[in-house]
Amino acid sequence: MTATSLTLQPRPADPSVDHAIQAIIAGASTAETCNTDLAEGPWNFDARPGYGPGSSMGDVIPTGSPRQGELPAEYREASPEELDERIRAAKATLGDRVVILGHFYQREEVVRHADYLGDSFQLANAAKAHPEAEAIIFCGVHFMAETADLLSEPRQAVILPNLAAGCSMADMADIDQVEECWEQLAEVYGDMDTPDADGLVPVIPVTYMNSSAAIKGFVGRHGGIVCTSSNARTVLEWAFERGRRVLFFPDQHLGRNTAKAMGVPLEQMPMWNPRKPLGGSTSEEIEGARVILWHGFCSVHRRFTVEQIEKARAEHPGVRVIVHPECPMEVVDAADESGSTDYIRRAIEAAVEPTTFAVGTEVNLVQRLAAANPQHEIFCLDPVVCPCSTMYRIHPGYLAWVLEGLVGAEGMRGEVLNRIVVPQGVAEPARLALERMLAAKPPAAPVADWEHAS
Ligand code: SF4
Repeated sequence: MTATSLTLQPRPADPSVDHAIQAIIAGASTAETCNTDLAEGPWNFDARPGYGPGSSMGDVIPTGSPRQGELPAEYREASPEELDERIRAAKATLGDRVVILGHFYQREEVVRHADYLGDSFQLANAAKAHPEAEAIIFCGVHFMAETADLLSEPRQAVILPNLAAGCSMADMADIDQVEECWEQLAEVYGDMDTPDADGLVPVIPVTYMNSSAAIKGFVGRHGGIVCTSSNARTVLEWAFERGRRVLFFPDQHLGRNTAKAMGVPLEQMPMWNPRKPLGGSTSEEIEGARVILWHGFCSVHRRFTVEQIEKARAEHPGVRVIVHPECPMEVVDAADESGSTDYIRRAIEAAVEPTTFAVGTEVNLVQRLAAANPQHEIFCLDPVVCPCSTMYRIHPGYLAWVLEGLVGAEGMRGEVLNRIVVPQGVAEPARLALERMLAAKPPAAPVADWEHAS
């Protein structure tokens, strides 16, 4: 894999996260609020109540979210060159005992050390290909490490280098709110477990992979299923064969875009706001629903707009616009195509003639695609879009820390730091929901050659 450098946003006059949060709440533009502090020193934000600067900065972090303890000074103060060397040395010492996974949206100085690069589900499957590894280091966010723990062997330790690397979208579907929603729906629909004369239960819960293990477990317990952005349509078809309607979490946009493409009318897709009775709908609207959309979104993909697409078309006649289905419906409608990260990658690679692509997804991935496909002109629809701020919690300092922890001091056994373990009572139904997805569709394609970053 070719290493590319990131183009970071200019540092604003006042880089404090509190100032930035206030600014975005007040409606400031992205250019005024994005800053590079999280990229350079995420330890300054670990104990703070928020996701930090970047595209998730306006979201409220749940009170129970894991917090990262203080990173030892030797890692905070080390130069990039020293950290790079220490990571390489620790990895060489550990050999097959460790596998490092890097998400597509991860920063380059971390990804260059990854054995595999891919989306969350591809990476969880890549980990399964290494039963000899004692430790799997997931350079992504919390729900991804949970999924890897669900799919790996019990004796394998899944490590998240920085516990504060959450996902604002996953955190928008809180298990207590989801349980409360289910109870309210039961008051409208009655018995939720008994099929009607057509063999259909009232609701099948479907959760996007970008959700906590607790939500996947809930879905598994109630006859539901997990989906990815690649297989959302297949999974919804599976659900409609078993239920009158679908309750879709946490990303309203993926749910709406997928169901709309399947012909479900918008008026049959009420949104569920967990802070309102019946999610903010009437019982008639809930009765008539085909897909109930949880009130969640990705802070990164929500930033793409129709105006950006119009501007790209005006400035680059003939441009091909591809966006991720986590973008709002109007943006997906205005684009030429929409699809998962894997779809975007394959579409670009399949273009025979040199083409200009405007891409609506996380900027680190877009820059990587541009470097890997120099025959095309590829740019991010929003030139000032913030990278996923939660991904940015994984600084090389944390990677060096967990790797050297595994190596241990000379003559001593290594230490597993930041292990992510899904409790047994949650893990069993969560695995069931994942297995239903695999049965509904063949397993995801193996990680392609260019994603193997050895
Ligand atoms: S890009 Fe969006 S959905 Fe993905 S980890 Fe970041 S906040 Fe979560």
